[in-house]
Amino acid sequence: MTNYDVDLIRRDFPILERQVYGRPLVYLDNGATTQKPRQVVEAMTEEYYNVNANVHRGVHFLSQQATELHEAARETVRRFLNARSTSEIIFTRGTTESINLVATTFGDAFLNEGDEVIVSEMEHHSNIVSWQLVQARKGIRLRVIPITDEGELCLDEFEQMFNEHTRMVSVTHVSNVLGTVNPVKRIVEIAHAHDVPVLIDGAQSTPHFPVDVQAIDCDFFAFSGHKIYGPTGVGVLYGKESWLDRLPPYMGGGEMIRNVSFEQTTFNDLPFKFEAGTPDYVATTGLARALDYVSALGMECIHAHEQELVRYAMEQMSAIPDLRFIGTPKEKDAVISFLVGDIHPLDMGTLLDRLGIAVRTGHHCAEPLMHRMGIESTVRASFGLYNTKAEIDALVAGIERVSRMF
Ligand code: PMP
Repeated sequence: MTNYDVDLIRRDFPILERQVYGRPLVYLDNGATTQKPRQVVEAMTEEYYNVNANVHRGVHFLSQQATELHEAARETVRRFLNARSTSEIIFTRGTTESINLVATTFGDAFLNEGDEVIVSEMEHHSNIVSWQLVQARKGIRLRVIPITDEGELCLDEFEQMFNEHTRMVSVTHVSNVLGTVNPVKRIVEIAHAHDVPVLIDGAQSTPHFPVDVQAIDCDFFAFSGHKIYGPTGVGVLYGKESWLDRLPPYMGGGEMIRNVSFEQTTFNDLPFKFEAGTPDYVATTGLARALDYVSALGMECIHAHEQELVRYAMEQMSAIPDLRFIGTPKEKDAVISFLVGDIHPLDMGTLLDRLGIAVRTGHHCAEPLMHRMGIESTVRASFGLYNTKAEIDALVAGIERVSRMF
């Protein structure tokens, strides 16, 4: 990691120079959203100032230039995920919309009463409630893969869950609470052996290590731009063309149609069939610059840097009296959830904030997981490519200081 220069990297993120309550900001809420480098913000400003025009519609110069940027962004995403074709890359508003798109359209086309969808106990609400909406409409059954006390999926029990009613497996790549990195390749192998497709929620994996959708062989993959140093309001759904072709449209409107009449409307080709209305074409440019940014640093290098941070943080935090980690899987990503004695996470979070340290507290949109772990909430520190060991030292000192107050 000799040429991973975190001090130099931090200069690309103006917000990291901010003071909070007179103290330097220590931003450890990257699981919720990441900060944006100048390269992303400047590319978006440049597009608004000098290129802005609606895409795919105009014959005029600006519209064509905006369309080129938007479609080049799609190619950047394709390369980033190693998808086969840009037809497989659908722009959405984020992971949540991507999952809802699949749940709704797959549900409409392929799910009937008594059919089963497998999720896990560690899912974010977006990968639970989307399917519960289908459940309410179609009478499907949700099956839930249990997890161990350490926070790993019970794969043996997962294998036993398949039967003639199983239609879909939808699981997270990395838990936003436990940091668990799930063995998605193995999950896909197991599901495919039963002819069942798999959706992977990649909200917490794409920012941290290389993802290759062809190597994973998943059928659908979702992620959010804002969690990978890109803008808010844009995300991606990858889907295998063979599946996307068979799914009905999600929303109706401009761009997703070929011809419209009151008698019969025909739909556009992929990926446009799923992109009704004016897309956030400036955000797609921003997302592409964010992916360029992390790719230039190297996802492997980012991963190595963050793994070192997690290892160091776990080691330092282990020495804090009464500190308990929630989630101690063997493969753990850049997320550490913890509790200290009986200090309420909200108190811990509020007092750390006063020291300039931004962490998350609460149920992290994973209430069923909280129930499984027998708790109501946690404090969560989540790392990004710009965090440093000095910031972890500040966190540890902050936790110790708050602990002494109680
Ligand atoms: N899944 C996981 C695992 C997440 O961590 C999040 C965001 N916390 C989401 C889905 C939802 O992402 P978004 O709010 O960007 O749609």
